[in-house]
Amino acid sequence: MNNYLEQFASDNNSGICPEALEYMIRANKGSAPAYGNDEWTQKATDYFRELFEIDCEVFFAFNGTAANSLSLAALCQSYHSVICHETAHIETDECGAPEFASNGSKLLLAQGENGKLTAQAVEAIVNKRTDIHYPKPKVISITQPTELGTLYSIEELVRIKEVAKKYNLKIHMDGARFANAVAAMNKSPAEITWKAGVDVLCFCGTKNGMALGEAIIFFNKSLAEDFDYRCKQAGQLASKMRFISAPWLGLLETGAWLKNARYANQCAQYLENKLLDIEGVEMMFPREANAVFVKLPEQVIHSLKAKHWLFYTFIGVGGVRFMCSWNTTQSRMDELLDDIKAAIAQGT
Ligand SMILES: *Cc1c(COP(=O)(O)O)cnc(C)c1O
Repeated sequence: MNNYLEQFASDNNSGICPEALEYMIRANKGSAPAYGNDEWTQKATDYFRELFEIDCEVFFAFNGTAANSLSLAALCQSYHSVICHETAHIETDECGAPEFASNGSKLLLAQGENGKLTAQAVEAIVNKRTDIHYPKPKVISITQPTELGTLYSIEELVRIKEVAKKYNLKIHMDGARFANAVAAMNKSPAEITWKAGVDVLCFCGTKNGMALGEAIIFFNKSLAEDFDYRCKQAGQLASKMRFISAPWLGLLETGAWLKNARYANQCAQYLENKLLDIEGVEMMFPREANAVFVKLPEQVIHSLKAKHWLFYTFIGVGGVRFMCSWNTTQSRMDELLDDIKAAIAQGT
């Protein structure tokens, strides 16, 4: 058996879903204009406009780090700052790329329960210093769902939007798992983005089932001025753009983006329910999308690793993250659960 076939480390360990692959193959007939001047790119960008019910500007990048960094750089001058949660990917997992791309815009870190910024925390940071010696707050960055697998409700988003309005801040949304948020919240993509004040969204295709590719969507079109040049300069303009845009169209047009997300969320819910049945197992954060964060005894973690299960434990001592994706299977979840039960029984 191949232990690496189905895992719980990340949704970017999964493969390409059939719909994305099918459209990639379709786009591989003959030649097409380069640099995004092809019909796949036109169709995919039009589809985003339809999906979000607004005339937005759409760009594509190779990965999430580039999408986040370049979009933040578009919202900031080098003397500005970006308010984000201390666990935000832009802070912890992008090797300083947001600061690099923006020529030094500083990230200001806020704390907040369950990985979420609050309107109060944002306001406290904005008011902490208002003098010339401190980088001027310009952007609020929120991750939906958060790095801890939780969701901002519409009410929470709207409260943040009000603070943004009060202090003239822009809102950036890291949507690495945006599809999972839409699926879990039962709200339209428009409702949880521009209608809740989001100026720019980084919508991740990779974790949703593509080989690679992120859509950067500017709802506030004036912020997208010359963004195509910024992408090109950063080495993020794909010459064979159709192999990013065609699979995107595949996800969108067939509904696979939501199907994949809904399925991954359901898998996480299943895993959560079964884990809660096991004595000695405790959830760390509310399970709201496709990630399950659970406290397991050290010896159980060792035992799972010895059996070659793949998962992250970066969240602190005893904390384990199990991430579900479009290709998670029930049989693998059941095997994982059996191994957890066996390891716990051994330790008692
Ligand atoms: C995966 C992820 C990204 C993108 O990461 P890349 O490796 O650069 O594609 C961005 N934000 C969050 C929250 C993520 O989980």
